[in-house]
Amino acid sequence: MDLEQKQEQFNAAMELYENRAGYKLFGKFIAAANISLQAFLLLRVFKLSIGPAGQLAAIAGAYLLADFVNGLVHLYADHMDDYESAWGPLTANFHLHHKRPRYKDNSLPVMYFNESGSKVWLVPCLCALAWLSFRPSVNPVLLYTLVYAGILSSVAEISHYLAHNSNAPAVAFLARAGLLLGKRRHARHHLEDNVSYTFLNAATDPLVDLIAARFYTGYKNGTDLHYAKYTLPIADRD
Ligand SMILES: [Zn+2]
Ligand SMILES: [Zn+2]
Repeated sequence: MDLEQKQEQFNAAMELYENRAGYKLFGKFIAAANISLQAFLLLRVFKLSIGPAGQLAAIAGAYLLADFVNGLVHLYADHMDDYESAWGPLTANFHLHHKRPRYKDNSLPVMYFNESGSKVWLVPCLCALAWLSFRPSVNPVLLYTLVYAGILSSVAEISHYLAHNSNAPAVAFLARAGLLLGKRRHARHHLEDNVSYTFLNAATDPLVDLIAARFYTGYKNGTDLHYAKYTLPIADRD
């Protein structure tokens, strides 16, 4: 398929995304589902006691898992180009993150809600976790780890937003401490090709970079070319 055709498909998909209320409504539904499942799961695990060492292990494991899984999903999604499918408008809108040096400023709870709305894959994962939380044989440290990873998957979006928009000393400190995404590490994703897909704290970036180099072609000469003829609506610029 030639590039011009892809660019036309991209623009048609964005036209749908912007003008059909259903797509934005779907995002709100996904956000509400993710956040209520996260709250429900926290209430479920808080009944279990695993001690401070268990908590530390769960948080460390959850950081690695959430960083890696979200990086993989990002890698996969950056290479999707089926703009004419039912989810094509969501794919097209997702690709625009490569075009944005800065996001519209929003409070963190609003960002948490909005960005959780793009994580469609997280809903079935959290549902499976809810089921798992009722299995009496499940290891409590493992359950805590998975629940924290489910929440950190949304936090990763905040981390990415802050890497773009914030110059606050506290954010810089948390990035240096390895709890949030560092600006310089993340800039590679936007400036170079096929690198730095992870965006919680980039702890697993080298591993995802290896997977990307082995199995994927990159976006600079791929999906990034598809939005070359698209202009962001004025309300969306910042
Ligand atoms: Zn990307
Ligand atoms: Zn970015």
